[in-house]
Amino acid sequence: MDCPICKNSKNVNLRCDYKYEIKEDIKYFGKLDVLKCQNCDFSFASPMPEIKNLDYFYENVYRQVNRPPYWVTVNDEESEKRVLEDKNLNYLLYLSTLIDLKKVKNIYDFGAGFGDLGYAIKKKFPQINLFCTEYDKQCSEILKKRGYNNEKIENIGEKIDLIITLHSLEHLTDVEVFQKFNEILKPEGKIFFEVPNCPQEYFSGRPYDGPHLLFYTKKSIEMICDKFKYEPERIDISSYSFDEDHKYQRESQERYYRIKSGKSLDSFKQIIKKFIPYKIIKFIHLIKSSNKNDEMHKLGLFTSNSNDNCYLRGILRKKSS
Ligand SMILES: [Zn+2]
Repeated sequence: MDCPICKNSKNVNLRCDYKYEIKEDIKYFGKLDVLKCQNCDFSFASPMPEIKNLDYFYENVYRQVNRPPYWVTVNDEESEKRVLEDKNLNYLLYLSTLIDLKKVKNIYDFGAGFGDLGYAIKKKFPQINLFCTEYDKQCSEILKKRGYNNEKIENIGEKIDLIITLHSLEHLTDVEVFQKFNEILKPEGKIFFEVPNCPQEYFSGRPYDGPHLLFYTKKSIEMICDKFKYEPERIDISSYSFDEDHKYQRESQERYYRIKSGKSLDSFKQIIKKFIPYKIIKFIHLIKSSNKNDEMHKLGLFTSNSNDNCYLRGILRKKSS
């Protein structure tokens, strides 16, 4: 199979088996291997799943109740309060340090989800218009409330100053979206991205790959920039170490299977939650978190460029032709 970046099979080899996060997802993804292009330092699932199966998966399965990574609950307020969580504040600081947001007029969020970051930015920079493309029904409603214009990427036009794409690009089957980004960005417009960082350290010891299909490294982002005419202004590695990340992934995977087997209190807690007013749940969380003396995990979340960070982020600028 050809490499999605250099479109060549000459330097492509089998890297390893694909590891599913949830075994049953094989019915949407099929039986996969992970291949690697030595030329681009880029790994990818093969054969790529059919688009219609992926569309079904992301519209109907991905955000189901009691499924990682979202652990959706019945309550809207749960998702609304995430806006000011550490992860988003970390993004906001990075972005507002490196980009003059006062000069930004239009932001497009690719794979917006609930659009947390754009929403937080608009609170501080109200002149900004928010755009996105999101098909998930629950997300679309929240995005609308938050002032997003949700439309097809083909209808956006060349007016975007800044594209935000956080933990979305690894779910795609190819990298051609960078061509579409080029078409909606103004000259000198920028992309702020974050994806999992996938050098060898990622592959050794990871509990699963799913549902990711593309595995980026710093070099592969540079190859993409060459191909699609971007200047990498910054490429940083950030967040937890690979060991910590693998540990959190294992815990999340185990939680899923525990709930599913009915051996856990979690499913019972979900039912109870429906009957308790949200303010009381929030209060209980507050007491629990103030008792928690192990806050060291934050060091991971707020550290960049320590050589074993599990995420890759950066700012890419569209080259003026
Ligand atoms: Zn390649």
